[in-house]
Amino acid sequence: MKVSENLSIIKKRIEESARRSGRQAKDVKIIAVTKYVTTARAREAVEAGILHLGENRAEGLNEKYAAIGEKAAWHFIGSLQTRKVKSIIHQADYIHSLDRESLAKEINSRAQRAVQCFVQVNVSGEESKHGMMPEEVIPFIKSLHTYENIRVCGLMTMAPLTEDPHVLRTCFRKLALCRDEVRALELSYAPCSELSMGMSNDFEIAVEEGATMIRIGTALVGE
Ligand SMILES: *Cc1c(COP(=O)(O)O)cnc(C)c1O
Repeated sequence: MKVSENLSIIKKRIEESARRSGRQAKDVKIIAVTKYVTTARAREAVEAGILHLGENRAEGLNEKYAAIGEKAAWHFIGSLQTRKVKSIIHQADYIHSLDRESLAKEINSRAQRAVQCFVQVNVSGEESKHGMMPEEVIPFIKSLHTYENIRVCGLMTMAPLTEDPHVLRTCFRKLALCRDEVRALELSYAPCSELSMGMSNDFEIAVEEGATMIRIGTALVGE
């Protein structure tokens, strides 16, 4: 399938989810996750009107950035080793996987401008998942106040691998509540207005629960 065909299907599904929950589809940004596909396919996504591209490895981000550049905003969505920060920091507009102080420190010292970061939260508590526990989020964000190159634009989570809509909804709802708590602090460096949640198999529930950025790979550009 062409990316443009997949995109129009996904947009319809977003519109329906938005309608069900009293939201507007325009408040949901689609990040095309291109980690499984070629640079040509990523370029096709941009030509179809995608403005945001996501990669989970430094090599993938660099390869596609070299070909596509500033026609899209770049999202680093994978777990990030501290030693890899220097190889993505000038390409990535957003980092979705801030989950520890040492990483914040490295981002802050390598960046030459404020980087939009999502704090990754392990809402479900699964051992295999990256991210911090919800109760760690506020103390962590408060500890970032001296890092002038870190801006906490929102929270990110990966839902557990399940088809159970109740489990998925609970996970997304908890992230939204956590985001509300951070936002209420009104920290200048942490507006925390965004919710990065929802992938190919669960984005409709994520939109119903307030996602502002959904990360779609398989259903949009393919595997
Ligand atoms: C791969 C990946 C996605 C996209 O997954 P799909 O199920 O293919 O839509 C989203 N977020 C993260 C963090 C990923 O690693």
